[in-house]
Amino acid sequence: MASLLLGCIADDFTGATDLASNLVRAGMRVVQTIGVPTGTLASDVDAVVVALKSRTIPAADAVTQSLAALAWLRRVGARQIYFKYCSTFDSTPAGNIGPVAEALLDALHDAPGDAFTIATPALPDNGRTVFQGHLFVGDRLLSESGMQNHPLTPMRDPDLVRVLQAQVKRKVGLVDHRVVAQGPVAIRARFDTLRAEGVGIAIVDAIDNADLRSLGSALAGMPLVTGGSGVALGLPANFDIAPSPAASALPPASGGRAIIAGSCSSATQRQVHRFVQGGGAAYRIDPGAKGVRDDVVAAALAWWDRQGATHASLFYSTADPASVRRAQAERGVEAAGAWVESVLARIAQGVVARGVRQLVIAGGETAGACVQALGVTQLQIGAQIDPGVPWCYARTGGDDGAGVHLALKSGNFGSDDFFTKAFGMLS
Ligand code: ADP
Repeated sequence: MASLLLGCIADDFTGATDLASNLVRAGMRVVQTIGVPTGTLASDVDAVVVALKSRTIPAADAVTQSLAALAWLRRVGARQIYFKYCSTFDSTPAGNIGPVAEALLDALHDAPGDAFTIATPALPDNGRTVFQGHLFVGDRLLSESGMQNHPLTPMRDPDLVRVLQAQVKRKVGLVDHRVVAQGPVAIRARFDTLRAEGVGIAIVDAIDNADLRSLGSALAGMPLVTGGSGVALGLPANFDIAPSPAASALPPASGGRAIIAGSCSSATQRQVHRFVQGGGAAYRIDPGAKGVRDDVVAAALAWWDRQGATHASLFYSTADPASVRRAQAERGVEAAGAWVESVLARIAQGVVARGVRQLVIAGGETAGACVQALGVTQLQIGAQIDPGVPWCYARTGGDDGAGVHLALKSGNFGSDDFFTKAFGMLS
């Protein structure tokens, strides 16, 4: 693993994939691991993204998990560490961005006075920009973007210096846009000034990708970088890596094709509708029916067997809000979700056992359940199908596990023709 350049720690699964995909587009060969690995890496890569589920757990647990990820990344030789969080800076006054960043800083620096890092969630491609330390989502301040109503991490203050200062012991400073616009040398000079003033973490303004590239250049050699997935744009160049199709090369695809949709988000509803309208073979899972799980799974797989595996077939629980409410009233909200996830995860196991080697999965939680059921622990990241959704390649569980191509789609991602487009890319 002598070549491992960047070791990343992401605070959730789809955020990890987003970062991994950006690094691949910038030319790095990337593997994403699910949780902290126990062994070594399956392949030779430039960057590893360890996907945690630490965004909203107690801060002390997030710190423990992140330090475990750091220890593993250092063991496999990572030269720079990247802590990735959401581009809307999802956190509460208790954390977890601040406490995790500080714990990583402490672990990476012997002398406390040397410890310095940056923080910027800017992701201009998705409308997230930072100006004078204030985070915007499109043309709205973060606190008026809808994020003020988030059930777990309501963001009511757009001033990131103030938000982060409430979470950390170190002093938080700002590298404002006038400095960023002058380029990497000016940015580094500002880092030095802030560090001399006792600042430990600096929010950095960035309103477009040129800013992120300047920032990336200024970050060369900094032991710890923190940010959304946007900062990733500027880092590979520091290691003399340029965009290249070779970075996204996966083994050739073969075998049967299936789609599993457990998301009820509007984009997935449109994708399912489009697929069914286009004559695609589709099997609906109805959690409202008083089905016994094993019978429902067996019936679904019997349907698959009757199809003959010549075309991509779809299994979906995707339903409109009224149907979801009905199922939830019958089973309970969490139980309905868990029932659907376990049915779809078993269907995923069933179709892979029947020779499926190309699998599209719609829904963040659904993807998590299916990947876990398949025994997947590492994903090699390939080319992007739509923003934030790359094809991946993974070995399923067991020593002689089958190699499977996976597209793990967050519910609201992807164009309406995503399912056919995704397989078209592998043909
Ligand atoms: P998204 O990425 O759109 O949020 P997820 O897979 O993360 O999708 O979440 C969708 C949740 O809804 C899952 O827990 C899933 O099991 C559940 N679910 C899916 N279909 C239904 C349905 N018809 N009725 C009730 N719950 C459902």
